[in-house]
Amino acid sequence: MIYDVDRETLPREELETLQVKRLRNLCERVYANVGHYRRKFEEAGITPADINSLSDLKYLPFTEKQDLRNNYPFGLFAVPKENIVRLHASSGTTGKATVVGYTARDLNNWAELMARSFMAGGLSRRDLIHNAYGYGLFTGGLGAHYGAEKLGATVIPVSGGNTKRQVVLLRDFGATAICCTPSYSLYLYEAATEAGIDLRDLPLRVGIFGAEPWTDEMRYDIEQKMGISAVNIYGLSEIMGPGVSMECADAKDGMHIWEDHFLPEIIDPVTGEQLPPGERGELVITTLTKEGIPLIRYRTRDISRLNYTPCCCGRTHVRMDRVMGRSDDMLIIRGVNVFPSQIESILLETEGASPHYQIVVKKHGNLDVMEVQVELSENMFSDEIKNLQRLEGRIQKTIKEFLGVTAKVRLVDPRSIQRSEGKAKRVLDLRNEE
Ligand SMILES: [Zn+2]
Repeated sequence: MIYDVDRETLPREELETLQVKRLRNLCERVYANVGHYRRKFEEAGITPADINSLSDLKYLPFTEKQDLRNNYPFGLFAVPKENIVRLHASSGTTGKATVVGYTARDLNNWAELMARSFMAGGLSRRDLIHNAYGYGLFTGGLGAHYGAEKLGATVIPVSGGNTKRQVVLLRDFGATAICCTPSYSLYLYEAATEAGIDLRDLPLRVGIFGAEPWTDEMRYDIEQKMGISAVNIYGLSEIMGPGVSMECADAKDGMHIWEDHFLPEIIDPVTGEQLPPGERGELVITTLTKEGIPLIRYRTRDISRLNYTPCCCGRTHVRMDRVMGRSDDMLIIRGVNVFPSQIESILLETEGASPHYQIVVKKHGNLDVMEVQVELSENMFSDEIKNLQRLEGRIQKTIKEFLGVTAKVRLVDPRSIQRSEGKAKRVLDLRNEE
């Protein structure tokens, strides 16, 4: 089922015509109303009149998170303050919070796009949606909430926390869908198991998971444990919140970016150059319709790839691969871009290896040398040396094949790599040390 058939199946040519029209209009709006953008346009020696096709996009300046911080709190807003009807803000754990404002039309568009997303994920007005995204300044809770209402479904505004109670509510209310982060769904599963509740016996059938990177391997794990179909949703508060793109339940192969509202590009994170379709790099998004805080070429720092091949669901909007890491985490090994998450995927698919690993990069003379230390799984530990050597060789060969770099692979004892409470530190880059 498609929520907005006309828009979601628009032929590419018509979609691009609409995008160009909206891009030009966007440039006029920010040039007239946002001092930051007027200055950036002037520095680049362009005016909105120079933007006549999608290929002109590359002349426009990038916007970075730092630009939002520098203009804290409302400096990038493009409408008078009285037209803003809601504010959201990021947590600001690594610096000043970034603040976003929405006009009434922005909120309506957001609800529409979330309704589209829910339906793409396999939901309809008959569903009962347990919304465990946090309500508050974070965009997850309210974003999903109004989308669910727009769809006509029943929304249960549970928000985050109080996991034992969430399990009871899932059982008593009989929710058919749940929205939360993928890692929280596994936590809920453990809490349910402890309470003697088998989630597979409940009416729950779909999980809409996002707000953190996850893998396909994790998807299968969650699907089996909870007896549901797990789909991926993407968004970020700077662009809108959840619902920027959504995986369709039909293909489960990449998330459709709602291109009538968001114009995506993939760039080389180092040079800033646009990359051809199908190449992997940093996702950059231009908000085509947003009024409150429209952003031009916003650098998401998320690494992905755009897939323009037609999708079996009938939607024409481009699909982005699940986010495979942050450009800040990217390593350049002898000129090749390598992401820790790529190594992780390879290890997850290699029997005998555990997903606990560390990458050590050193310089030998002028050459970068990468060593991947991999913990053995418990059952491989006591195996014969020649089998272990074979395993090392296999991992090394797969890394060479898929990433195009030579890595030294070293197997280490189970539980010998330090565990982390928060974000695991995967990379030890010693190239600038002597
Ligand atoms: Zn699709």
